[in-house]
Amino acid sequence: MKWEENVRKVTPYTPGEQPKKTSVIKLNTNENPYPPAPGVAKAAAALDVEKLRLYPAFPEQTALAEELAAYYHIGTDRLFIGVGSDDVLSMAFLTFFDSGKPILFPDITYSFYDVWADVYRIPYERKALDADFQIRAADYKQPNGGVVFPNPNAPTGVRMPLSQVEEIVAANRDVVVIVDEAYIDFGGTSALPLIDKYDNLLVVQTFSKSRNMAGMRIGYAMGQPKLIRYLNDVKYSVNSYTMNTAALELGVAAVRDEAYFKECCQKIMNTRATAEERLSRLGFTFPKSYANFIFASHKTVPAREIFDRLKENDIYVRWWNKARIDNYLRITIGTDEQMEALYRALNQICG
Ligand SMILES: *Cc1c(COP(=O)(O)O)cnc(C)c1O
Repeated sequence: MKWEENVRKVTPYTPGEQPKKTSVIKLNTNENPYPPAPGVAKAAAALDVEKLRLYPAFPEQTALAEELAAYYHIGTDRLFIGVGSDDVLSMAFLTFFDSGKPILFPDITYSFYDVWADVYRIPYERKALDADFQIRAADYKQPNGGVVFPNPNAPTGVRMPLSQVEEIVAANRDVVVIVDEAYIDFGGTSALPLIDKYDNLLVVQTFSKSRNMAGMRIGYAMGQPKLIRYLNDVKYSVNSYTMNTAALELGVAAVRDEAYFKECCQKIMNTRATAEERLSRLGFTFPKSYANFIFASHKTVPAREIFDRLKENDIYVRWWNKARIDNYLRITIGTDEQMEALYRALNQICG
């Protein structure tokens, strides 16, 4: 068929499986094992369905923008809100990476970056992590069309000290540097304080992991007003109404309950500390994680085999058939009960 020659062909991103069965212990997509803040249920019950007749408000003019801005001590003009950070990142790629020069990101990282680059026809170059899975700042000092990396990195959980993040931002004043902080609340240091100093820095965060609301689809970017304006220009040129009314209203309650947010993050970090100990005893090695998952490799049993056998036991983790990481499993930190079930199964498989 002739028309096929003119199709924008891409290989899409494959997210972790969402099984229909509810009995599955889901440790494969880094969701939070705890429910959203109690206020979110109340806001959902109070949602005025009649209002759904109307188009939603512009995100930057909502209570959600005000709540987030107050939480981070910034003006709403430094905030862009989107449909999960995937939407925010995608818009940022489209807006800022248009020089024709390759953008740079790590070889082992969030596997959506190359997909966005492909779909938008942005050339890119992958920079190899070192043997300890650390990003080498020196690799990001060559001429480029922009830089993007997660901190902490995914799927490794390895964090970068803020001084090194700054080194990369400072070395790239002529392009935009995007720091994807999807996991920052589990032990990393945010680059947010640097946005005042650097007009080329965009910090992206999400409600999906640390705010227990992956299903609501809320993400946001923070940067100087000029960056945010350019981002909005592109966003409003693609789709005026991305955020739905329910997300804009329910998100407020999640930000407002700081105590619950901190409590859930702390619980996950505590469970992670136990997991390090238990997984070590079971014969796993892993880089120290500052995220809500552990990237682990077993000394003798191949990751693929463990992955398959866990799945037979209704425990889902993530495995990639990809160079350098095909002997690793990314295990999301669940509740203590879920993790106990995991250790029991692993004891059968690897013990
Ligand atoms: C989960 C994740 C995201 C996207 O999450 P959203 O649900 O779209 O907010 C972005 N970057 C990284 C590194 C992630 O792990």
